[in-house]
Amino acid sequence: MSAEAAQLFAPLIVWAFWAVVIGLLAKRKNLNLWGWGLLGGLFWPVGLIALAFQKFRCAACSQPIEGKPAEGKLCGTCVAED
Ligand SMILES: [Zn+2]
Repeated sequence: MSAEAAQLFAPLIVWAFWAVVIGLLAKRKNLNLWGWGLLGGLFWPVGLIALAFQKFRCAACSQPIEGKPAEGKLCGTCVAED
C-alpha cells in the first residue's frame, strides 16, 4: 500500500472501528445500531459520551427504561402486557 493510500484509508479504518464499537454498545441498550454506529463512528468522542448518557430502551416500544431492564429488555408496561 502506498503512503497516499494509507493516508486515505487510515481515517476510514478508524471510523469503521468506532462505528462497530459504538454500534454494538448502542444495540446493547436497544438503540438504533446503524444510526449510532455510522454517526457515532464519525464523531466517536461525542458519540461515546452521548451513548453513556442514554437510557436502556424497551425492546418492544422503545421507551426509555429507568435503571437496568429486567429479563427480556422490556419496560414495565410491556412486561405487564406480555
Ligand atoms: Zn415497552
